[in-house]
Amino acid sequence: MNSPVRAFTAVGGEPIFAAAGEGAYLVDADGNRYLDLVGSYGPLILGHAHPALVEAIRAQAGRGTSYGAPTESETELAELLVAQVPGLEMVRLVNSGTEATMSAIRLARAATGRDLVVKFEGCYHGHADHLLAQAGSGVATLGIPGSPGVPAAFTALTAVLPYNSVEAITELFARRGGEVAAVIVEPVAGNMGVVAGDPGFIRALRQLTAEHGALLIFDEVITGFRIGLGGAAARYGITADLTCLGKIIGGGLPMAAYGGRAHLLRQVAPEGQVYQAGTLSGNPLATAAGLATLRVLIADPPYDRLEAAAARVEEAIRSSAAGGGQAVTVNRVGSMLTPFFNPAEVTNYERARASDTEAYARFFNRLRAAGVYAPPSQFEAWFVSVPLADGPVDRLCELLGELP
Ligand code: PLP
Repeated sequence: MNSPVRAFTAVGGEPIFAAAGEGAYLVDADGNRYLDLVGSYGPLILGHAHPALVEAIRAQAGRGTSYGAPTESETELAELLVAQVPGLEMVRLVNSGTEATMSAIRLARAATGRDLVVKFEGCYHGHADHLLAQAGSGVATLGIPGSPGVPAAFTALTAVLPYNSVEAITELFARRGGEVAAVIVEPVAGNMGVVAGDPGFIRALRQLTAEHGALLIFDEVITGFRIGLGGAAARYGITADLTCLGKIIGGGLPMAAYGGRAHLLRQVAPEGQVYQAGTLSGNPLATAAGLATLRVLIADPPYDRLEAAAARVEEAIRSSAAGGGQAVTVNRVGSMLTPFFNPAEVTNYERARASDTEAYARFFNRLRAAGVYAPPSQFEAWFVSVPLADGPVDRLCELLGELP
């Protein structure tokens, strides 16, 4: 098992061993076909094996898989990202979301000459040491190691606050504003299940960081090109100083990026002194897959269709869960959604954690038996893909209605 959630620890049963993907469907090694709502945890907005992607990857593979030299395609991808994502003036390509956030934070620390990073409970920014910090339930808590192997000295430089609390972030800046290098946030959180950032909260982050000379980092690894071509920045009308992208921009191949204001990015080597490098950075296969994906999305933006389909799925889940006597709160932003088995509103991690995870596990396994592959954890986002929206969404809603 190369990434823990895939082990199905939270829902029980044998993990699905994937053999193939076809559009909206995942096929396992035993030949079972599932309507896929996991979408590889976000990248597969175009579903599996989209013909444009397959062709782009095939064509590139015939010309080589890595050169260790810059290519025209990397520049094309960078230009496309800069054109679509608000606040992105320059961008650097890396291989994973973890690398993107880790590098953005290094750059923020270098640019501000400060060390303290602020993150929010329930937000996940990859597995770099200083971002694995988790807080207890308190406010403005200094980080403690969230994983054995992460030294307390590292996470002492990370303050962890409750998501959506303007009060907590205001209080932290009042006390320690001069120490803060950056505030990193998922503007729409996907990693405690889907929880949208309150517009007032995102605005407060922008104002407080600007007032105190700290940088604001939007982690749009999930939301970039998922909730619209301009991601969360466009949705909120707020631009960050640095933005991290991943998942969709690689079309299912290892690709991510960090970028933002040009004067910041110029501090990265070779122009500047902040070191960051990668043997496979801007890899030609991943670049080809990313470009093919983004070109399809830009040529015919699918976001209205995705919104409509996801709204139907939301409604079908709500009535299905209600039919089973379960209290469920469905949070949805565009084509990302999470049914929380929780009668109350879910606006932060504490509330997400109050959900009935056993009820979620039962729901997951009923769906699995009906041929639907939902995320194997209460604390993940469900993703509606374009081929699902354009095809079997009716069937999915029927299945949800018929669940035993
Ligand atoms: N940031 C966010 C918001 C994510 O959802 C993830 C992964 O799920 C990451 C960063 C880390 O990305 P990766 O798994 O590619 O390292």
